[in-house]
Amino acid sequence: MLMKCRHCAHPLHHNFIDLGFAPPSNAYLTKEQLHQPEKYFPLRVKVCEHCWLVQTEDYAAADTLFDQHYAYFSSISKGWLAHAQSYCDEVEKKLSLDHESFVVEVASNDGYLLRNMVAKSIPCLGIEPTESTAGVARSLGIPVLSAFFGEALAQKLTREGPQADLIIGNNVLAHVPDINDFCRGLATLLKPGGAITLEFPHLLELISLGQFDTIYHEHFSYLSLRAVSTILASAGLKVWNVDCLSTHGGSLRVWACHANDHRAVSANVAHMLEREALAGLGSLATYATFQQRADNIKNELLSYLLEQKRQGRTVVAYGAAAKGNTLLNYAGVKPDLLPYVCDAAPSKQGKYLPGSHIPIVAPDVLADVLPDVVLILPWNIKAEVMQQLSFLREVGTSFVTAVPMLEVL
Ligand SMILES: [Zn+2]
Repeated sequence: MLMKCRHCAHPLHHNFIDLGFAPPSNAYLTKEQLHQPEKYFPLRVKVCEHCWLVQTEDYAAADTLFDQHYAYFSSISKGWLAHAQSYCDEVEKKLSLDHESFVVEVASNDGYLLRNMVAKSIPCLGIEPTESTAGVARSLGIPVLSAFFGEALAQKLTREGPQADLIIGNNVLAHVPDINDFCRGLATLLKPGGAITLEFPHLLELISLGQFDTIYHEHFSYLSLRAVSTILASAGLKVWNVDCLSTHGGSLRVWACHANDHRAVSANVAHMLEREALAGLGSLATYATFQQRADNIKNELLSYLLEQKRQGRTVVAYGAAAKGNTLLNYAGVKPDLLPYVCDAAPSKQGKYLPGSHIPIVAPDVLADVLPDVVLILPWNIKAEVMQQLSFLREVGTSFVTAVPMLEVL
């Protein structure tokens, strides 16, 4: 049966990429779980030729995907905390926010962002379904509602309290299964004259830099400005500005408001839509060649790892991030080629990567092992990682990334 587009219901005839089957990328395993069966789900992405929404294919039992005990705490990344703080300073000025305003953040995580609003005495509310992260935010004095956001919740909030002057959605739009319902919710909760900002990894970067490892089940959509503008418009919202950000390998921050708002639309919007058109995001041929790109990256990595093994050189990985799991599972890399991965998060240490079953250890071991090569899986933070591990450079260790091409740094 042909799947229908989650936005426009047009039948989806065209594949973007097929990564076979993979376990959920955040399903880190304990030692005991290594003796149990592991669930794999199809990981296929389609493109809608009608509205150009790039989306994962539906599969059975999607609801079991989030039945995991692992939660990501945003505050663990210092760079991300700084990003959130400078954003809050910017919106405070740009939107003239004060103690009479009301700010809502959807997917507020551990309060990494709203802590700044609390410090500025700007009334706010976080919406966050994951209890463990919501609890941390509450301990910082941030009011948090434990719920999934959508039109029904927005209607309830609007009945019971004020509408929002600002709604923030950072790295949530790509994660929602029903993107239409989510956007209608934004329109319902937004005060007349209010603003919405949404940040998401940009499809243009994914395609131009071959970032196929950013594809995983938890991401339902891969978004362009063109598709997001179309989806917001059908919910009664319009995009009035867009910023390019360096986060997550290249993201967009879209500024939206009610369609009847009098704000002038920035020239940035037309420029970005044109860049997307020039890059071929409105042409099926662009999408049709992506699989080959991903396969080339996978094959290069495998050849490199096999060659190191032949030469008796030790290779270890750094960063047990979701994108590493997509890459390693698609490439079929197992502990014989990559004996372990180092990660600074204590919650991951002692566990195993899903699928590949590569053990996760604390980075301290690197000082004893002094490997010949460190493969940095989260390429978006390679500078930060290389700085932390600069002592290895002095003993001759090479740092390598696999995406967009195999590169010795
Ligand atoms: Zn569509």
